[in-house]
Amino acid sequence: AKRDHRGQDLQYSEQMGAEARSRALLLSELREAIENRELFLVYQPQINLATNGLVGIEALLRWRTEDGRFVPPDKFIPVAEHSGLIVALGQWVLMAACATMRELLDAGAAPQRIAVNVSTVQLQDPGFLEMVCDALASSGLRGDHLELEITESVAALPTELLKSTLSAMRAKGVSIAIDDFGTGYSSLSYLEQLPLDRIKIDRSFVRQLSEPDGARIAEMVVQLGRKLGLSVLAEGIEDAAVCKALLAMDCHEGQGYHIARPMDKKALVTWLQTYCP
Ligand code: C2E
Ligand code: CA
Ligand code: CA
Ligand code: CA
Repeated sequence: AKRDHRGQDLQYSEQMGAEARSRALLLSELREAIENRELFLVYQPQINLATNGLVGIEALLRWRTEDGRFVPPDKFIPVAEHSGLIVALGQWVLMAACATMRELLDAGAAPQRIAVNVSTVQLQDPGFLEMVCDALASSGLRGDHLELEITESVAALPTELLKSTLSAMRAKGVSIAIDDFGTGYSSLSYLEQLPLDRIKIDRSFVRQLSEPDGARIAEMVVQLGRKLGLSVLAEGIEDAAVCKALLAMDCHEGQGYHIARPMDKKALVTWLQTYCP
């Protein structure tokens, strides 16, 4: 099957522009990488900024090639989305993340939830709901052990389809977060219609908190989330001052290098054993 795909992906190379060609090449490399098990998950803790208590962990995908290079997800996820491969890849991610959560629960070291990034392309897939239910069932997780992180690009989907998919998830207890909040320019009235639990303030706003006068926009974004009645989690917290500033503006959850970097499973388990807030 591997060779067939390679043929398919590269078939039209001659007529393609340079960009399409490099995308096709990356896609065929990605397919091989999946078969060779070069992909794995790392996990980044999410904490309550007021108590320092652990609230969740976010699963993030990594691709380390045979020769030890890391291909950033920002580079290969769009290729996987464009080709539809993200549906199968995203299923693998969800299964693996749920399996890790199961292990943490069994070890008595689990946070409240594991957060998994879900592409808008996956949400459109007719099998999506069943896939999530299968992942929960096969790892014996409750719905409220899982959070799905979606981005504002979901605004491109038909509203009814999106609302019914998210509502079905929430009926199972699964929570929904809007990732990279504030960067997508989707209308607020649109977001207000969606059944959401949390917004994640994008790193670009959080970073501004360490600059003079940088707090105004970040504060507006936090307040927006609060006014929508949602929990607010800040990503990309890199120092204690930013932590403090976020707390002062009523943002109660966060993640970032200051708290912990994304870690492989082994390092995560050690971190969880030694973390005492
Ligand atoms: P994201 O979901 O917004 O993830 C946050 C990114 O910020 C991660 O980059 C994380 O490693 C990085 N980060 C965390 N704390 C800090 C910090 O304090 N400072 C800085 N500078 N960076 C921090 P990463 O892992 O490279 O992922 C990039 C993006 O790729 C993610 O952005 C997400 O959109 C996408 N992605 C990653 N894994 C998956 C996945 O399994 N499925 C899907 N659909 N997308 C994924
Ligand atoms: Ca995310
Ligand atoms: Ca984000
Ligand atoms: Ca991001």
